[in-house]
Amino acid sequence: MSDCLFCRIVAKEQPAEIIYETGRTLAFRDINPQAPTHALVIPKQHHADAAALARADDGLADDVLKTAHAVAVQEGVAEDGYRVVFNTGPGAGQTVFHVHAHVLGGRPLTWPPG
Ligand code: 5GP
Repeated sequence: MSDCLFCRIVAKEQPAEIIYETGRTLAFRDINPQAPTHALVIPKQHHADAAALARADDGLADDVLKTAHAVAVQEGVAEDGYRVVFNTGPGAGQTVFHVHAHVLGGRPLTWPPG
């Protein structure tokens, strides 16, 4: 989708600090990090949100989760604990409608989130 910011990052038309890539997924640093490690993991294929990704029913959600864990390991935050968050829908704070998992770590993470 040419009007989708994250599709443009996949197409390398929009700059991003890419830190991990597989055939079907991409991870890059969040432009406004909320923790020392804050990456976004996306499927290269456009799906608006986590519900649409779950409906895709082709193992893509599995790929995104595996990439999120690989990023946590690569960033050195897996042992101390990290958080994987899908804000799903405007009411949950989603602002970019190309599904993305936030991978947050590198500091103590409190619960519940705000
Ligand atoms: P959401 O609010 O949809 O869950 O998360 C969207 C995230 O995308 C935010 O954390 C925001 O900082 C990040 N973001 C927005 N625009 C850009 C951009 O152009 N590049 C990168 N790397 N991150 C972005």
